[in-house]
Amino acid sequence: MAGEPQDDCLFCKIVAGQVPATIVRETETTVAFRDINPQAPTHVLVIPKAHHRDAAALAAADPALAADVLRETQAVADEDKLESYRVVFNTGAGAGQTVWHAHAHVVGGRGLQWPPG
Ligand code: 5GP
Ligand code: ZN
Repeated sequence: MAGEPQDDCLFCKIVAGQVPATIVRETETTVAFRDINPQAPTHVLVIPKAHHRDAAALAAADPALAADVLRETQAVADEDKLESYRVVFNTGAGAGQTVWHAHAHVVGGRGLQWPPG
């Protein structure tokens, strides 16, 4: 069921504390932790604690929770004192999504090219 923890989901395991992660922020509804394979000096993933398979599913099922995630991306950027940064929701395998629990990448701390590859 949408929102329920999934046994086979890596990010649900991070929420449950079953897989270690470097957590930088936590709220009642979200967790932010450093990406294990950082692509920039700041590379943090912000996730809803509830399981939704991608950002589109999250926004459709629970817009308030999607807003919580977006608000936390800004809090992460503030904490790392980023003036410029990028927030990315890879949505679908063709866009590079590999973990099927909605997550925002917050990337910054270096120059970023646009458009991305
Ligand atoms: P996606 O490709 O789905 O948009 O992003 C998934 C991200 O999760 C990747 O950037 C990847 O490096 C990160 N990741 C995968 N496994 C782990 C893990 O066990 N711990 C952490 N902290 N990040 C992970
Ligand atoms: Zn999950």
